[in-house]
Amino acid sequence: MTRKSPFLVPQPPLPFRVHSFRYHDGSLHCEGVALERVAEKYGTPLYVYSAGTILDHYRRLDSALGEIDHLICYAVKANSNRAILRLLADEGAGFDIVSGGELFRVLAAGGDPQKCTFAGVGKSQEEIEYALEQRVLSFNVESEAELAYIDRVARGKDVRAPIALRVNPDVDAGTHRYVSTGRSENKFGIALERVSEIYERAAAMPNIAIHGVQMHIGSQITDATPFVEAIRKVTPLIQHLKERYALEFFSVGGGVGIVYESSMASGSGDWWSEKDRVRATTNLPLTIHDYVAAISPPLRAIGLRVLLEPGRLLVGNAGVLLTRVRYIKQTEHKKFVIVDAGMNDLIRPALYQSYHEIVPVREPSGPARACVDVVGPVCESGDFFAQDRDLPEMNEGDLVALMSAGAYGFVMASNYNSRPLPAEALVRGETFSLIRERQTMEDLVRGECE
Ligand SMILES: *Cc1c(COP(=O)(O)O)cnc(C)c1O
Repeated sequence: MTRKSPFLVPQPPLPFRVHSFRYHDGSLHCEGVALERVAEKYGTPLYVYSAGTILDHYRRLDSALGEIDHLICYAVKANSNRAILRLLADEGAGFDIVSGGELFRVLAAGGDPQKCTFAGVGKSQEEIEYALEQRVLSFNVESEAELAYIDRVARGKDVRAPIALRVNPDVDAGTHRYVSTGRSENKFGIALERVSEIYERAAAMPNIAIHGVQMHIGSQITDATPFVEAIRKVTPLIQHLKERYALEFFSVGGGVGIVYESSMASGSGDWWSEKDRVRATTNLPLTIHDYVAAISPPLRAIGLRVLLEPGRLLVGNAGVLLTRVRYIKQTEHKKFVIVDAGMNDLIRPALYQSYHEIVPVREPSGPARACVDVVGPVCESGDFFAQDRDLPEMNEGDLVALMSAGAYGFVMASNYNSRPLPAEALVRGETFSLIRERQTMEDLVRGECE
């Protein structure tokens, strides 16, 4: 059986199809591949991504924008594996990068540097020179000091650096304070009131070429209102700038949120809790359709080429972290499910108090459930994936999936506790392959001297 799109596989009705992870014959599959097979082949902890889900999200965003002149610059920091970058580069995507290392990855994956925007508040001389040599589309500039520095570095190379200033529209995106970037108290961007005068200074700099305006208000935003509010706030500024400079683009940044809770619970099986079911119907994400429908009218009014920088939206729901239950530990107060993945593999719960849905790879046969903490082996009390969560009964050796781990998962993994970095695999239809080897013990000490 071949499947062109994972979304064509007949499934019980879902309120929204955010990924292609489904139970078939009692076993969790990614597209046409049983996750048990992938875990057996590559071991755990293991990240598994669905190429179909990533492409489906990209294509849906691309087609929703329709006739609006646009370029989707995937935010590489969300998941920078070369195989993922290659998928998107082959679709014609651009890339939003935040370091020289990310530019290197994009080039290694066959991406077009002339479709790259270079963001970040602390670009170094080497990074600026590298990006100039590769002729990136734009430097997104976050301060006056950085602007002057880019001008100087570009002079040294006798070129003009294309720039956009990052405007901070001071809107509250209603998201976690660690991922909010569009408030005046954040370190990002330049205050709206000050932007015009800095553009004037930029225009007078011999090695700077003004190309656009950029904003990015935060991440995991699940309501279109802050995006629309921010675009409306910067519109008068852009109209003013358009009269003075040859602006080519306006970048709306990224930040569209995804569903983290109960993305599976509307499937078949009577073992889901009532709470899961309720969550599945009430935790509606901001769909691509609704996001684009909301931002299109104000963008059309601006009349510039639109750049978008989605990260999480494209890859977040497309990945899971597979982990095996090592021990069950029952204490006087709690039941702990100790798994082989830790906060070094997936830090989001510890860093942002974020929620990841946890589902058994073997579909439960009965309604047995328990209230448990799912914890890793790392020596930190913050090393947990769930606390006091009502989950299907789990036993030693069971394989479980931490859902929606495709964004800000592997990229934030570390060697803390001298744990080798996990492997990554990519599923395409009925096939799967390793896209990053698991680190070895030798990798842990490589480069160290005594
Ligand atoms: C992180 C980042 C993005 C992507 O954010 P998501 O929430 O993953 O969409 C886009 N643009 C800039 C400038 C960023 O720093």
